[in-house]
Amino acid sequence: MPSSPPAPPATTELEEVLADVAERSRHLAGEGEVEDQPEELPSAESTRFALALAELDGTEHVTGDADVGFAVQSVVKVFALTAALRLVGEDLFDRVGREPSGDPFNSLVQLEHEGGVPRNPFINAGALVVCDVLLGAADDPYGAVAGLLGDLVGEEAAVDDTALDAERESSALNRAIGHLMTSFGTVRHPVDEVVELYVRLCSLTVTTRTLARASRFLANDGVDPRTGTPVLTEPLARRVNALMLTCGTYDAAGQFAYDLGFPCKSGVAGAVMGDVPGRFGVCAWSPPLDEKGNSRAGRAALHLLSERLGLSLL
Ligand code: GLU
Repeated sequence: MPSSPPAPPATTELEEVLADVAERSRHLAGEGEVEDQPEELPSAESTRFALALAELDGTEHVTGDADVGFAVQSVVKVFALTAALRLVGEDLFDRVGREPSGDPFNSLVQLEHEGGVPRNPFINAGALVVCDVLLGAADDPYGAVAGLLGDLVGEEAAVDDTALDAERESSALNRAIGHLMTSFGTVRHPVDEVVELYVRLCSLTVTTRTLARASRFLANDGVDPRTGTPVLTEPLARRVNALMLTCGTYDAAGQFAYDLGFPCKSGVAGAVMGDVPGRFGVCAWSPPLDEKGNSRAGRAALHLLSERLGLSLL
């Protein structure tokens, strides 16, 4: 007879584990660099730290600054990919690959070598192709992603104008990537429109708590446990998880899989969002980043959490 899965830890035990993990990892924040961003944003404050876990039944456990808002940045690529898969299904992968890049997230070099086809949807080139697909397939491309995020969280997702201004000002490399892909025919809409959609999506405000909540559909075979609404088919939800596991944390994805063993996506504002299939959505946030661009304390917190709760799928 197959053995039954271990009973999930009781709520109080989870609270204790979260508090202990936070205590043991938040000091690492001081050892990394905060990405250059407007100083009025909380994500510019190196001492911020939060950890949130959202169970499939709706129970949420949080510690630290879990309700402080910050720009979602690259974590939005998960929701943009999801929105595009909803519209065009796996045809999306005719235009973007499914391999880790092993290169920085905004590298032009690999793209040129590989005929303008991005390695995966989580490097910037791939996310720009996803935006291009959304522009072609959605009546309201921004709303397809922001609306999805809002539905998953249970409150409207809004753009932070300070973050948006900063994103627009620092979008030269993204524009260059867009133009390179235009020359190869991978991007089909005007680069200005594609980059504007991308930077608006990166500037959506989230919190550690809302990202933990929003990732739960991926832990639940594609169904949003809050509303019971199917977001993706089960096979597609598994594919998004596979991409997060192999490509979601810049070129440290192998080490994340080794240490944490569950799918994650990180962003420059210091969030690392993950999901543990069948169990919960999770997010850690701390702005200082390591040399690969992942939150230093966030990564340590999720590593400890994985060890304490036996979360590795591998
Ligand atoms: N706004 C950033 C960019 O594309 C997002 C980067 C990230 O979070 O990795 O340059």
